[in-house]
Amino acid sequence: MKSEADRGFLILARVCEWIGITLTFTVPVLVLGLVQCELNTGAAWLTIALGALAGYVASDWLSGMVHWAGDRWGTEKTFMLGPTIVKPFREHHSDQKEITRHNFVETNGNNCMGTTVILVFSLLLPEEGLIGLFLRVAAVGLCFGLFATNQFHKWAHLDAPPLAIRLLQRLHLILPADHHAKHHQAPYDRDYCITTGWLNPLLRKVRYFEVLEWAIERITGAAPFRDTTSSPAVAGGVAVDGSLA
Ligand SMILES: [Zn+2]
Ligand SMILES: [Zn+2]
Repeated sequence: MKSEADRGFLILARVCEWIGITLTFTVPVLVLGLVQCELNTGAAWLTIALGALAGYVASDWLSGMVHWAGDRWGTEKTFMLGPTIVKPFREHHSDQKEITRHNFVETNGNNCMGTTVILVFSLLLPEEGLIGLFLRVAAVGLCFGLFATNQFHKWAHLDAPPLAIRLLQRLHLILPADHHAKHHQAPYDRDYCITTGWLNPLLRKVRYFEVLEWAIERITGAAPFRDTTSSPAVAGGVAVDGSLA
């Protein structure tokens, strides 16, 4: 049974999520519209392609950083970040299908509040020349990837995604289910990137998160949380070895 305060908080959160979604779809028009650059050149179109790719890759890295922070640091009671990041990620380990029951706003509203902040700050980026074009397109690409992260993550947990989604997963343009399934094994300490998962092999190879954890432990003395929740190693109906579960 939810208290009045809980209900009030939920309504406020939903209103903020709607505002975030609306701004995420409208502010990019302003960010890109302010670029003062000749767009009818090959260099401009190459800059746009590279900027979009850079932003999309950066969103995969940022998704990994936020996911890693939620999985490994703090508790559900940590100020602000506990209920918004730590709790959802850790509950997701024990009930990985819960995310598939979220509607569009529940799935994407949270991230849109973050992308709105990035988009507003990106209005301060240079407006002129190819560098300005690259930075602004990269900012919009980053926000598109962040906006879509929870949606891609949700699709990776669906038992029977629509054909178009399966195709995007098969082409590895978005997070594939069998790739993400490798994260869902206790102690949930690998493959944190959940937009496309493109960076996971590289970050694993250079032991990126292990080095960060070692450094944080050395500096603060705090040890990372180790989740021993046993959960079937299945995502999207696909087992970690890629076979159908
Ligand atoms: Zn996790
Ligand atoms: Zn997951």
